[in-house]
Amino acid sequence: MNKGNGEDPKTGSRMERIQQGVRKRTLLAKKKVQSITKDDVKSYLLRNAFVLFTVVAVILGVILGFSLRSYKMSYREVKYFSFPGELLMRMLQMLVLPLIVSSLVTGIAALDSKASGKMGVRAVVYYMSTTIIAVLIGIIIVVIIHPGKGTKENMHREGKIVQVTAADAFLDLIRYAPLGILFLIAGKIVEMEDMGVIGGQLAMYTVTVIIGLLIHAVIVLPLLYFLITRKNPWVFIGGLIQALVTALGTSSSSATLPVTFKCLEEINGVDKRVTRFVLPVGATINMDGTALYEALAAIFIAQVNNFDLNFGQIITISITATAASIGAAGIPQAGLVTMVIVLTSVGLPTDDITLIIAVDWFLDRLRTTTNVLGDSIGAGIVEHLSRHELKNRDAEMGNSVIEENEMKKPYQLISQENESEKPLDSETKM
Ligand code: ASP
Repeated sequence: MNKGNGEDPKTGSRMERIQQGVRKRTLLAKKKVQSITKDDVKSYLLRNAFVLFTVVAVILGVILGFSLRSYKMSYREVKYFSFPGELLMRMLQMLVLPLIVSSLVTGIAALDSKASGKMGVRAVVYYMSTTIIAVLIGIIIVVIIHPGKGTKENMHREGKIVQVTAADAFLDLIRYAPLGILFLIAGKIVEMEDMGVIGGQLAMYTVTVIIGLLIHAVIVLPLLYFLITRKNPWVFIGGLIQALVTALGTSSSSATLPVTFKCLEEINGVDKRVTRFVLPVGATINMDGTALYEALAAIFIAQVNNFDLNFGQIITISITATAASIGAAGIPQAGLVTMVIVLTSVGLPTDDITLIIAVDWFLDRLRTTTNVLGDSIGAGIVEHLSRHELKNRDAEMGNSVIEENEMKKPYQLISQENESEKPLDSETKM
């Protein structure tokens, strides 16, 4: 019944309760903000120092690169300038092979054949479906935007061969030491061709690739992660920043592998049995960004040649782009090389790859970042889908999982063996 003031007592009290709740939450939020001390900020910065440093390095690299462009350095000077960056690349690459072999061995050894079989199937299904989605996005975007309008006659071509000198051989000698992403990026920007050569069609092509990669990386992959795991994809992606920035800096998903492992295992807490099993394979065969780019670039080349592709040829491009991305190594601009397969499959001139070389160094960085994101989200999804097998295996193994946890905390394992059968959560994960 209504009160004299016309307010329903039930609704009134509910409203009051809601308002009180809102007030309480606002107060709590304010308190939280007030209670963030200098020490909190300091410890946050310290914890994330490496990530921040990497991001700052990229920004400084871009600034340095653009400010040095006016000096018109010679090709050789640019090579010397980017030498510290090359050192970092070589060091990361040096780690890759032993890392892939040892992680696969430990990953498979820690799983029984049934669990590893199931996990393998899940990983392959994920790789194939995301690669096909990426190819389709590439095709749809390039057909809609049609960046290759007009002819290729006034487009710039690029490609040069440079002689090796004694200085190169000397630098080769000391290529095993670490140095920065900053020089990798700055060096590339200094080296970059004059922006003038990037005509209308090439600029549109660049924008089209960026849009395609963004759709895949910012919409499709996070959505897939959310739909399957019901967890916030942005928290997961937040933990990967360092790997993504390293991919951007190095243009190599293989070279980024050590950092990807670190981010997934240490920050996102993904089970090491999963990362060791799926990441090395993913970094080698799962390249969503490359697949998207290969299909898109091939259709762009068809467009500038005024070559009308029929449905069958578009299907051929999808299949060969998928195969070419699987075949591409996780190294800089490998996709550009395997694109020959895609072009020849539909009879397009392979020489026309030189039309897109001018922007490829930049697009390579973006597609490598997408590749690394795809591999990492794949590891998160496979871990979620394999959680039951992993748990069963935990129980079976009774925490006697090999490796460093046992070395670090032997007393926990000993006390657990002696005192109870109950598994310790922190120890059950390798
Ligand atoms: N650079 C890419 C990668 O390492 C491969 C490519 O050229 O597309 O993932």
